[in-house]
Amino acid sequence: MAASSNSSLSGSSLSSDPEDYQPPIWKSYLYQLQQEAPRPKRITCPQEMESRPKYYGREFHGTISREYADELLAGAEGAYLIRESQRQPGTHTLALRFGHQTLNYRLFYDGKHFVGEKRFESVHDLVTDALITLYIETKAAEYIAKMTTNPIYEHLGYTSLLKDKMVHRLSRGRTEPRRVTFQRDERISSPLVRRSALKDTPEKQCSYEKIHNFKVHTFRGPHWCEYCANFMWGLIAQGVRCSDCGLNVHKQCSKLVPSDCQPDRRRIKKVFSCDLTTLVKAHNTTRPMVVDMCIREIELRGMKSEGLYRVSGFSEHIEDVRLAFDRDGEKADISASAYADINIIAGALKLYLRDLPIPVITFDLYSKFIQAAKIPNAESRLEAIHENLLQLPPAHYETLRYLMAHLKRVTMFEKDNLMNSENLGIVFGPTLMQPPEQNALTTLNDMRQQKLVVQLIIEHEDVLF
Ligand SMILES: [Zn+2]
Ligand SMILES: [Zn+2]
Repeated sequence: MAASSNSSLSGSSLSSDPEDYQPPIWKSYLYQLQQEAPRPKRITCPQEMESRPKYYGREFHGTISREYADELLAGAEGAYLIRESQRQPGTHTLALRFGHQTLNYRLFYDGKHFVGEKRFESVHDLVTDALITLYIETKAAEYIAKMTTNPIYEHLGYTSLLKDKMVHRLSRGRTEPRRVTFQRDERISSPLVRRSALKDTPEKQCSYEKIHNFKVHTFRGPHWCEYCANFMWGLIAQGVRCSDCGLNVHKQCSKLVPSDCQPDRRRIKKVFSCDLTTLVKAHNTTRPMVVDMCIREIELRGMKSEGLYRVSGFSEHIEDVRLAFDRDGEKADISASAYADINIIAGALKLYLRDLPIPVITFDLYSKFIQAAKIPNAESRLEAIHENLLQLPPAHYETLRYLMAHLKRVTMFEKDNLMNSENLGIVFGPTLMQPPEQNALTTLNDMRQQKLVVQLIIEHEDVLF
């Protein structure tokens, strides 16, 4: 009994009344409409027109009036021709019969044909797509306006398909950063003790939010929106696809999809120059593995190295490390047998941080950090920096926290490596902070503050994070 009612439920289809709109899986209504849309009928010109541009065919009629074009098209839905404008010779108009009237579009060609955003190989394709779009958007305007209101996405859609890939869905996995008062707690006064305790806690699965990276996409064959379950109509550019996880949705639906992109490692081609959050989500780590691996290597054999992070490694070798990470990911070999000089590893880490499309201290927060550094009162200055740190995206926050704890340990070997928080600030200031608009003057003006921000975070990392 239960089984039979289930099967009839799953077979239930849409109501024709848009008011009772209940989306079943992969709704076919818009697909059916696309099948019904009028087909293009090319109205050819009986004589060869000398003024015909070579990228038009016999549908080009030369300079004829709007009224005459109307007459030629009359009666046949989908009929079309191209005419040259009487008022502006050299410009062309596509006259198209739809809905018992003639529609006129200014037609352009720059290697492809277009009247709006979409670009087509042929005028025939352009007209086919225009007729589908006009037909569907006229017939189903109300339906389309409502189709996003009851998405399948949350309960049946894409995310459940990915369930085994995604460890948790998500309520921001990182522990909320502590609100601190700036008093040192004696129990954690030795960073080394605290770090060793930290190391023993199991790695949290990465559960950061990440927005999808949607790009307009042309689908071959019929495709359905993975957000609203409706057909994606049109001949080309029917919707958008996330380049990081492959989610396919309508352009209008893309604005409603939650920020739960789970990048597919096969789609993420590179490690360097890849967005930080995208990389950690793709590899399911808390921080970029480049950061963890380089720091591990440096702590293993480089902490006493004179001028650590200031002395530059041989740039061709640094480039090798970059290629190794891009090619092998976490399997990249950066051991002493591969690169004996620790400055190469330190250089690769700096390069990684510098090449991020969004710096660790994000463009959004850049000027807030600079402003904070200008506050004269030391305590308020630290509080302002702390406030700003809390606004960093989680993956950026975790990366910075880890890096700063490491740099603090570097300063504990100052008598060997000659690096203190001030000269590390000089090295890492411009690496971690870049102004949203690069211009030589701001860069120069902000250098002092960039250095100071990083220096202060290193010095106070144990209370700031
Ligand atoms: Zn995505
Ligand atoms: Zn949709």
